[in-house]
Amino acid sequence: MDATKQTTDVLVIGAGIAGLIAAGELRRAGRRVLVLDKGRGVGGRLASRRIDGATFDHGAQFITTRDPRFAAVLEQGRQKGAMKEWCRGFAGGVDVHARWRGKPAMSAVAKHLAAGLDLHLETPVAALHRAGDQWRAETTTGRTFTADAVVLTPPVPQSLALLDSGGIILAPEMRTRLAAIEYERCLAIMAVLDGPSRIPPPGGFTPADGPIAWIADNQLKGISAEPAVTIHATHAFSIEHWDRNRDESARALLNTAAQWLGAGITTFQVHGWRYSKPMRVDQFPCVVVSQSPPLVLAGDAFAAPRVEGAALSGWASAEAILSPAD
Ligand SMILES: Cc1cc2nc3c(=O)[nH]c(=O)nc-3n(C[C@H](O)[C@H](O)[C@H](O)COP(=O)(O)OP(=O)(O)OC[C@H]3O[C@@H](n4cnc5c(N)ncnc54)[C@H](O)[C@@H]3O)c2cc1C
Repeated sequence: MDATKQTTDVLVIGAGIAGLIAAGELRRAGRRVLVLDKGRGVGGRLASRRIDGATFDHGAQFITTRDPRFAAVLEQGRQKGAMKEWCRGFAGGVDVHARWRGKPAMSAVAKHLAAGLDLHLETPVAALHRAGDQWRAETTTGRTFTADAVVLTPPVPQSLALLDSGGIILAPEMRTRLAAIEYERCLAIMAVLDGPSRIPPPGGFTPADGPIAWIADNQLKGISAEPAVTIHATHAFSIEHWDRNRDESARALLNTAAQWLGAGITTFQVHGWRYSKPMRVDQFPCVVVSQSPPLVLAGDAFAAPRVEGAALSGWASAEAILSPAD
């Protein structure tokens, strides 16, 4: 057998929440499923990082749910010890809606959903081709995966680029609709402090104005043994500073945040989210690019935004493959 070539029933590209939910559902329905992700770990924008003994959530900060099916997933994650309720509102605003977090950190949610799946990490797909009545994905690492069906879950511009590289032509109106989906950018700063911050309990809030969209104390949140602050810049600041020196932009934000830090900065890192959150969500929960062989686009740009929206889109994409419309 050629180890560089693999065949499966369904190929799921992307091991973020949409891909993991889709893969789990397809596997439970008896399909052979392979999940490919370019990252070193699962989760995509559900991301955590360790720096010098401190732990940061630097992508999604918390998870909310309105959908009973997704609520059941969170409850199951809680029972397995992969998540817990963080709080029911932040400083400056009171409500009773539960905000969930991963346990020990956000990436645990994705690891929990990935259990039992056939995953290939550090496997960036370079192009997707039609191969008779199947699909063929080629990776930058020289591997080829052939499948009867594909679910594509990267942010939409990246999914479109994969289709383009393989010469897959979309109907013009579908192409225009998908090409119009744009995302906010977000520069995320992770700073280790030499003492507790002044961020009030439960450990996160959105400043009223200025370049900071969100600031959180990961120690108060309960995920970090050391004082560790995550700062998310606004879209406007992130766009303006995207191509500038990242350390200088981070220092500018940290200066703005000084009143909430209240301690010295030991070290910091910056992560740029090119596709942070969709500015507009497509009207459908997923997009069927081809019925036969099936090729479906899913993710948080469909159905609804955020983690819950991505999960709903993942389910919709699995459904589109398991029960195709006539
Ligand atoms: C800074 C920030 C803060 C956020 N805050 C919140 C919040 O508090 N609450 C909330 O609900 N949501 C929040 N979100 C949004 C939330 O994280 C996303 O809606 C959700 O995680 C999207 O999941 P997804 O599966 O659609 O996409 P992703 O998580 O982006 O998954 C797509 C996956 O595809 C992979 N991929 C891409 N291209 C390729 C390729 N060519 N080959 C192989 N793999 C590929 C990527 O590596 C990635 O793992 C936040 C996002 C960011 C960035």
